[in-house]
Amino acid sequence: MTGFASAVRSFLKTSAVPLAGILPALLFLSVSASGQAPHPVQSAASAPAPTAPAAPAAAVAPKTPSKFIEPKYLTLGKTVKGRDINATIYGTGAKRVLIFGGIHGDEPHTTVLARALAVNMNRDTLPPDLTVIIVPDVNPDGLMAATRVNANGVDINRNFPSKTWRSDYTEQKRYPGTQPSSEPETRAVLALLERYPPHLVVTLHAALGCMNWDGPGGPFAQVMADINGYPLCGSLGYETPGSLGLLMGIDKQIPTVTIELRAKNPSDLVQENLPALLALLKHFAAK
Ligand SMILES: [Zn+2]
Repeated sequence: MTGFASAVRSFLKTSAVPLAGILPALLFLSVSASGQAPHPVQSAASAPAPTAPAAPAAAVAPKTPSKFIEPKYLTLGKTVKGRDINATIYGTGAKRVLIFGGIHGDEPHTTVLARALAVNMNRDTLPPDLTVIIVPDVNPDGLMAATRVNANGVDINRNFPSKTWRSDYTEQKRYPGTQPSSEPETRAVLALLERYPPHLVVTLHAALGCMNWDGPGGPFAQVMADINGYPLCGSLGYETPGSLGLLMGIDKQIPTVTIELRAKNPSDLVQENLPALLALLKHFAAK
């Protein structure tokens, strides 16, 4: 018997605490730890009616203003395999910024960066004029399978109904689907774009290590490049028919910026790109 097992056995023999009292607590902890959605803790004020009498007003400590922003959660649709595609909405400002990570499932660091931005949205970092909508994981089936494409083998970033969409392709990993918007992941993004028409779009990809843009997004790419130190790459050197950038930036002339992350570890990528994203939001709000 290992030392640990022996210690547990001896604890169970000698402990006066009944197991029935411990197990529910352990189960509760386990369920809490595995929760998926980052729902905020419900405040005491909105909790179900307490049985204990309210504390006298004089005993309540003065409140410091909270920086926390209560986000709205939105499910945009389901993937081929039935996973939810979720967005988190911060603020209610008139200028909307939509940010997309995980369009390609084999670029998981883009999802990490988008989530890092989400947890850093607060009253200090979110300009009041903005609504910021973050979709950290457009293609969760691809993320789980570590594939660029979705579960139908379609490259979501070649499946958008841009004027340039075309059915021919050179590499299997860039298969554009049988027709534009054929994929549920694409349609989920389109539904969000229709419900919350953006004034600025940010897409996250990897791993060319440069700042790319479509349409009038160039000045915004420059703002980020000044902070993250990435070189500008107006052209990626290959065509991207049916991409989100061409649909929004070129067809609709909405400034669209793409961070092509470097091939580095996620903590370095967050360290160099989170300040760049926050600077972009501040800059865009002031325009
Ligand atoms: Zn990509």
